[in-house]
Amino acid sequence: MPLPRTRETGLRQRLAELRGPEVPAKALDARALAALAANPGCKRRAILDGAGVDKAALADALGSPSAFGQSQFALTRGNAFEARVKADGGAELLRLVHERLDRKAEPPSNAEVPDLTAIGPEGRTARTALALRDATASGGWTLLDHPMLALDVAGSPAFLEPDAVVVHPDGSWTVVEIKSFPMLDGSADPAKVGAAARQAAVYVLALEEEAARLTPPPRVRHHVLLVCPKDFSNLATASAVDIRKQRAVTSRQLARLTRVQDIADALPEGTCFSPELPADELTTAVEAVPATYAPECLSACELAFHCRDRSRADGAVTSLGRSVRAELGGLTTVEDVLAAARGEAGDPDDPAVAALRRAAELRAQALGRGVAACR
Ligand code: SF4
Repeated sequence: MPLPRTRETGLRQRLAELRGPEVPAKALDARALAALAANPGCKRRAILDGAGVDKAALADALGSPSAFGQSQFALTRGNAFEARVKADGGAELLRLVHERLDRKAEPPSNAEVPDLTAIGPEGRTARTALALRDATASGGWTLLDHPMLALDVAGSPAFLEPDAVVVHPDGSWTVVEIKSFPMLDGSADPAKVGAAARQAAVYVLALEEEAARLTPPPRVRHHVLLVCPKDFSNLATASAVDIRKQRAVTSRQLARLTRVQDIADALPEGTCFSPELPADELTTAVEAVPATYAPECLSACELAFHCRDRSRADGAVTSLGRSVRAELGGLTTVEDVLAAARGEAGDPDDPAVAALRRAAELRAQALGRGVAACR
């Protein structure tokens, strides 16, 4: 007699079925989680990320390839810079943490750099937890190079790998982000710094979950260290970035995500997102999950071109932007909006309808023709 499936194993199996036979799960990184948190109403993204579907491969198979990803050159340059910053037991990195975040502490020398290797993400997470506990009790400086942290996302664990976490002599923990974009005269591109801060906020939330398991819980610092090349050189420079706002927003948005289990339960039996399937079958599978497309998706999600085409084909006003959507109240399609403006539909007491009619009248007056000509 088969053993009863626990709820967790059942969900794992269901997610593996959605991913497709033999298709390995793509780990969620903090960048993906930050993007997921930026559009918490999108069930499509939530289930695809929850099931570990490779969205770039899926977008290719759907015939709407994404414009995402770093060039090989940028990746190699970024890896080389990170290795340089962490050379000699992380001496330069720890010097920067001391200088920018903890000048009152003793300067870091002979810092510990524990071995964090273990089998699988669960093993690495357990190894990291042990190293964090030991480092916090040690009273010295410790550098955790590529630790692994777990964060509960919509009822499923997401495994995250920050560039580094530093444990200070007072037992507090700092997230370190190493980026290859330059810092010129002490400041960097605000858009890139903002993206790095959102990513670091996800790591801080995961660290806080870990800290809550210790007694007393260590302090997770809300200033992270952003390390970048100085003025296009190979030298490292750093800045302390306050991520309190990003942390609060991300935490709130992640809490709003629909549980992956609930989305999976609502899908038809046999739904599968394997990129090996023909495009029409994949389109049916993807369209079975509701999406909330907005132009912001173009810079955050691999499926953006596919979802934008569908949204435009449906005449959905969300394709015009979230603020426009919010202004239009119950009018959800461009057709509804035009009909309301022409006076053919809509409640005249609805402020959105009244504003549209007024705008149509003004436009018609300006053009010297009737409102019905509004197209
Ligand atoms: S592109 Fe599509 S799947 Fe991705 S977040 Fe936007 S609506 Fe959701």
